[in-house]
Amino acid sequence: MEKDLLSRNGFKFKKQYGQNFLSDKNLLGAIARDSGAAGETVLEIGAGAGALTLALCEIAARVVSFEIDRSLQDVLKETLNGRENVQIVFRDFMKEDLSSLEEKLGKYLVCANLPYYVTTPVVMKFVEESKNCRSLTLMVQEEVARRFCAKAGTPDYGAVTAAIARRGEAKLLRKVSKDMFTPRPKVDSAVVRLDFQRGGFEVKSAECFKKTLRIAFSSRRKTLENNLMAGLSLSRGEAKELLGEAGIEEGVRGETLPPEELGALSDHIFDAFGE
Ligand code: SAM
Repeated sequence: MEKDLLSRNGFKFKKQYGQNFLSDKNLLGAIARDSGAAGETVLEIGAGAGALTLALCEIAARVVSFEIDRSLQDVLKETLNGRENVQIVFRDFMKEDLSSLEEKLGKYLVCANLPYYVTTPVVMKFVEESKNCRSLTLMVQEEVARRFCAKAGTPDYGAVTAAIARRGEAKLLRKVSKDMFTPRPKVDSAVVRLDFQRGGFEVKSAECFKKTLRIAFSSRRKTLENNLMAGLSLSRGEAKELLGEAGIEEGVRGETLPPEELGALSDHIFDAFGE
């Protein structure tokens, strides 16, 4: 890490913002290329000292990067000196209205070494709200990357996996050792790619799908039938009927159903009850 750059500018790491910076130019170049940034508009969340931002600027048409910590202003000015295709926005990305941001961006992709404390909320914001986002290439904790890419019936599979699968394909691209970060975090990381242009499936109502996932995974030890009874205030007979209509066998647990089958169940719930 360019400790010089940071200390010269009086910067102090803030744990509460998930500040674990990268500096290896080969790795940063590889992540930028992994994301397909060449010639594209790229949105970054968490510019930090600007190391990934710079790698993106080198190949992208335009980079817009959010950073919550204003004390990085001078550091970023120095790192990105002379770059004309970059805009740093000093705001909390979680408070940003994605649809008005997307109006300004047009079609874009996301590339980010995410602050770990907001990984899932950031991903869910794109899964639920984005219209123009082609893909997200994200550095996340390895365990989280496995959850995003998990197959139904495995311990890592959950509501987040299925929610992502509705929008596209999730793929683990590369593992990254904790030694690559400053300061060094406790666990290893991985780069994962969520491709909204491959895979994915339609549901009648995204809101109802979200509710269906909440119910299906509400109590992992219970059968789907029992979770449906509790979640939708149904009698056993009604829950059995709903499962029958969706072509789902009795006695299964939600976590064994692939995302598409949960989508089909959601459509039946929507037909029967609306949102
Ligand atoms: N991109 C840099 C790199 O790869 O070295 C920094 C990555 S660091 C893991 C995450 C960055 O996100 C930090 O600089 C942190 O201050 C910033 N950050 C944390 N929460 C944020 C938020 N809600 N909105 C925007 N930036 C945030």
